Amino acid sequence: NLAQIRTLDWEKGDGLLPAIVQDCATGQVLMLGFMNAEALRTTLESGRVTFFSRSKNRLWTKGETSGHFLSVVAVAEDCDKDSLLITARPEGPTCHNGTDSCFGDDIRSEAAGLSFLARLESVLAQRIADRPEGSYTARLWSEGTTRIAQKVGEEGVEVALAAVTQADERLVSESADLIFHLALLLKNRGLSLATVVAELEQRHRAKP
Ligand code: AMP
Ligand code: ZN
Ligand code: ZN
Ligand code: ZN
Repeated sequence: NLAQIRTLDWEKGDGLLPAIVQDCATGQVLMLGFMNAEALRTTLESGRVTFFSRSKNRLWTKGETSGHFLSVVAVAEDCDKDSLLITARPEGPTCHNGTDSCFGDDIRSEAAGLSFLARLESVLAQRIADRPEGSYTARLWSEGTTRIAQKVGEEGVEVALAAVTQADERLVSESADLIFHLALLLKNRGLSLATVVAELEQRHRAKP
């Protein structure tokens, strides 16, 4: 919060602290910039990541001309208060070269791929809302809970069979079918994969 600004170690870097910006959804490191106290205050007050640009020699709100703002989710200081970690929701690509990250999009954590599950759920929602011609998702949705549940049962059996009798490729493919149908079933019941993941996390916390 704002009161903590003056407790930071501003002396070490001549009034500037390095600030790492991380995508709150994927954990991808988006960019590194520098903040003076005023930039940090502006960041906290506006909710948009604002740096002190050493080349422009002024405050620079990322996205001020491109519209690709970084909406602040949380700000953390490191152990000795001389650097910042900002988690943010990017509104468009962060790098002016068009990539999500200024470090390029080749380096992603193994977990980053899992965040596609969140996107899958928004794609499902889109299909259900728009009902485009020929959409399997929209058709299955209209057939109702029992039919979707039946598909989850079938795909579960197919996964089990593939695991015992088929090649990896087939097991992966059947697992994808299962997760897709499970996501749709949960959605049909007003739930989501995120709800299930929260339950897994909760269990982990209960038994450390
Ligand atoms: P923007 O802040 O996105 O409106 O971009 C304004 C200008 O800042 C661009 O024309 C670039 O010169 C520069 N710029 C934008 N994004 C970055 C970035 N991620 N890292 C360094 N410079 C950037
Ligand atoms: Zn430090
Ligand atoms: Zn860049
Ligand atoms: Zn299948």
